[in-house]
Amino acid sequence: MSIIVQKYGGTSVADVERIKNVAGRLCRTHEQGHRVLAVVSAMGDSTDRLLKMAHEISAEPPERELDMLFSTGERISVALLAMAIHELGHEAISLSGAQAGIHTTTTHTKARITDIDTRRLSEALDGGKIVLVAGFQGISPDEDITTLGRGGSDTTAVALAGALGAESCEIYTDVEGVYSADPNLVKEARKLNAVSYEEMLEMAATGAEVLMLRSVEYAQKYGIPLRVRSSFSDDPGTLVKEEDEQMEKAVVSAITHTEDESKLTLLRVPDKPGIAATVFGALSEAEVNVDMIIQNVSEQGTTDISFTVIQDELPAAQQALDRICDELGTAYIIGEQMGKVSIVGAGMKSYPGVAAKMFRTLADNDINIEMISTSSIKVSCVIERAQVEQAVKALHAAFGLGDD
Ligand code: ADP
Ligand code: ASP
Ligand code: MG
Repeated sequence: MSIIVQKYGGTSVADVERIKNVAGRLCRTHEQGHRVLAVVSAMGDSTDRLLKMAHEISAEPPERELDMLFSTGERISVALLAMAIHELGHEAISLSGAQAGIHTTTTHTKARITDIDTRRLSEALDGGKIVLVAGFQGISPDEDITTLGRGGSDTTAVALAGALGAESCEIYTDVEGVYSADPNLVKEARKLNAVSYEEMLEMAATGAEVLMLRSVEYAQKYGIPLRVRSSFSDDPGTLVKEEDEQMEKAVVSAITHTEDESKLTLLRVPDKPGIAATVFGALSEAEVNVDMIIQNVSEQGTTDISFTVIQDELPAAQQALDRICDELGTAYIIGEQMGKVSIVGAGMKSYPGVAAKMFRTLADNDINIEMISTSSIKVSCVIERAQVEQAVKALHAAFGLGDD
């Protein structure tokens, strides 16, 4: 009997009525003769609320305790969902990440799954139970509770689908699939029927939070097709899978954006070997993820280096730079209110002039580009945060992505 993995995001289980709705969906899938495993997120914005409480107590809460705290959110959801399923006359069992056999690294708040012991899951599925696993968490080699980073329930679902050899993995969320831009920002955004892993990776990496980046990496690595769909409708949603001949290779498929970038510029650093290694070595030791990097042309033996980090990691980046700036004889400036807008499309590879059209569109809207980076299927521009919304809408229209 085939196994189906379904993941329900926070909005899909935001209140008791919605939990009952999800229970109904799971029972129907079970009645169709499948073995069913669901991965569930914390109710509504409860992870944000837990984080807010932690920060009301401490500016820098210990990360081990943050993980203990966060993990409770998804445990509430699975326990309530199990009760709702019992009410509908089916058998269900809720499990924390640790109980589900999800082993991770020790890096609290952004742990990675290292292996999954599926014994308990398989036993419960074989016994006819609907299995409910608390998303976004696992257990470290020290037997501490860990979490996988924001949006991590997507990764739990895809990893479990892979480990169990599931027939399908469905990601239920609050929109009907993957769109040509964030549908909550661009009302003309069009739902995409199919997206390749390659495009989805770029989209997730540049801000389309509908799927966590790591979940897409996993899906691609293990060849697991993902269906992204709404828990409030029967629309088939968007299939994310290996690129094939039938997929329309749009030059530009989607516009993505982020509004939480900060830009740091190191001024007049000596232009000699080893400087970049020192700077980015210090940042990597501090576990800061650097996104875009630009080094300007050297003038009189010195050079400026700019890079971006997400705003949450700005304090850690500053601490790391404070340690090395004296030694390097340099200082840095910060641009806090930055954002990023990107165009993504598999057809871009063989189509010149796409980047030029993006830059022209931004210029026509009086939007200054501060940094640019490209890959073979993506162009990203760092711009002022206040102009991100305008930029996304203008690019969406310029590339003709809307519903006609
Ligand atoms: P969940 O709680 O179900 O995991 P998320 O909030 O993490 O849901 O992801 C869904 C949200 O992603 C949508 O509400 C939408 O605002 C946002 N989003 C951003 N870009 C896109 C896109 N290109 N397509 C669909 N949704 C997107
Ligand atoms: N509840 C976690 C978060 O809000 C994990 C998830 O929803 O995927 O990030
Ligand atoms: Mg999510």
